[in-house]
Amino acid sequence: PYEVLVVGGGPAGAAAAIYTVRKGFRTGVAAERFGGQVLDTMGIENFVSVTYTEGPKLAAALEAHVGEYDVDVMNLAKAEKLIPASRPGGYHEVQFENGATLKARAVVLATGARWRNLGVPGELEYRNKGVAYCPHCDGPLFKGKRVAVIGGGNSGVEAAIDLANIVGHVTLVEFDGKLRADQVLQDKLRSLKNVDVLVSAQTTEVTGDGERVSGLVYKDRESGEEKRIELEGVFVQIGLVPNTEWLKDSGVALSRFGEIEIDAKAATNVPGVFAAGDVTTVPYKQIVIAMGEGSKAALSAFDYLIRNELA
Ligand code: FAD
Repeated sequence: PYEVLVVGGGPAGAAAAIYTVRKGFRTGVAAERFGGQVLDTMGIENFVSVTYTEGPKLAAALEAHVGEYDVDVMNLAKAEKLIPASRPGGYHEVQFENGATLKARAVVLATGARWRNLGVPGELEYRNKGVAYCPHCDGPLFKGKRVAVIGGGNSGVEAAIDLANIVGHVTLVEFDGKLRADQVLQDKLRSLKNVDVLVSAQTTEVTGDGERVSGLVYKDRESGEEKRIELEGVFVQIGLVPNTEWLKDSGVALSRFGEIEIDAKAATNVPGVFAAGDVTTVPYKQIVIAMGEGSKAALSAFDYLIRNELA
């Protein structure tokens, strides 16, 4: 058994593992895909102190840093169930799809999240070639260009306001008959001169020239007409889904969006179970934040372990 088991091998999980092993705790990391979302990222320009890097390079650096220590890394290990300890200090159990069960006195949940995809032709093909999901990350790559933001909830409208300040023109495309964002955000959006808002518009395709995005096609749900917009970028903002399906019956409290609820010390409602990064209620989902949160969860796990003898 481990003293600390980290579930998830993205920036949050890697940071957590480095921090607990450096405290002398026997640490394991089990991840479905070590590296996490970083593996799907191309240019990274906001990883503070690193002017520019690329996802696969950062993922390799995470793995190398964890590899410097005596951490058991179990890749391709998908957790499917958490059974918390029956008393503080006891062993939690994590069951995996491959039939394995691991035990640990403290667990750090860092299973991340995934952007909801539109699921239309061209989206996957042009991912990182004009199709983007993170305005904080990729907004500046579209300086002066024309972009669309798909989704009229708070994140879509915030993204459109943010991008309008950087890019040449923004078209916000919403499927529904009206935007769902807070009124104050909608008012701000409509006050911006370089923004158009389309409602009742179903995005049906992202088009490109083989190299990069060149436009999008949508169906006007009122007239049934198919229309095209020429542009250079498409930001998909229809939801970030936390990877918590496997925690449903664990007793770990989730928000109404399915995020793990944590306090300021990254503790969940279950003693000895901590959580970090995109999978949690922490606001703003970014690499530097996930790393900070992973470190915090690890230090809290340390604090827990020194206060709770094996029960
Ligand atoms: P993740 O990176 O999602 O890692 C989760 C880990 O958990 C993975 O190892 C996964 O395989 C594993 N896992 C999931 N479910 C299970 C399970 N059931 N059992 C076991 N393991 C599981 N952020 C920036 O700061 N700058 C950027 O430029 C940037 N660009 C981005 C571009 C794209 C295309 C995307 C998708 C995201 C981008 N982000 C960027 C966001 C950033 O990648 C995330 O905030 C960060 O990776 C979150 O780290 P995490 O460790 O919390 O989760």
